[in-house]
Amino acid sequence: MQAKAIVTLEALAERAQGCQRCGLARTRTHLVFGEGDPQADLMFVGEGPGEVEDQTGRPFVGPAGQLLTQILGSVGLKRDEVYITNVVKCRPPGNRVPTRQEMEACWDWLAAQIALIRPLIIVTLGNAATQKLLGRTEGIGQLRGRFYRWKGGIEVFPMFHPSFLLRNPSKKKGSPKYLTWLDIQAVKERLSLLRSQTQDA
Ligand code: SF4
Repeated sequence: MQAKAIVTLEALAERAQGCQRCGLARTRTHLVFGEGDPQADLMFVGEGPGEVEDQTGRPFVGPAGQLLTQILGSVGLKRDEVYITNVVKCRPPGNRVPTRQEMEACWDWLAAQIALIRPLIIVTLGNAATQKLLGRTEGIGQLRGRFYRWKGGIEVFPMFHPSFLLRNPSKKKGSPKYLTWLDIQAVKERLSLLRSQTQDA
């Protein structure tokens, strides 16, 4: 990728549209690049586009996306003030987990998005995005709910993927949904703190 020639997210998205770097290009309807505030302090990285996302070209607009919107709303965050994307930009057939090779092939697009947006916090949703960004092998159950220092001073905070929450709807204490409710509050608090530190600097 000639990243030096790309100066905006819009230009990067246009360039990505023709990507044929992995086999997912053959089965996609639309490449789902990402959407939201190009200067967001908070970025969400999921696993890959699902069926509705593949049809529309927009990330997190199916049932899992609606739940993500509700999770954001529970702490007063709106979708258009964050940036939302996935670790692979094309739908894995049957919504399977993207392979390590597919995530590796797509990495430059995500790395370039992060470099342009320069968020304070990246929330990784689910195993695939968390393990790819952190280079860890533990499951999301072990890794979630903590801030990890990442490249460029960015902090990474893993959370359960909304699709997992749809399959586990219990809200009782200790359930994935309950923990997610705590997690998004921790993200909001940390975001406020980091923003105030940035303003003071
Ligand atoms: S998943 Fe990523 S690397 Fe593979 S074709 Fe789509 S944009 Fe290219």
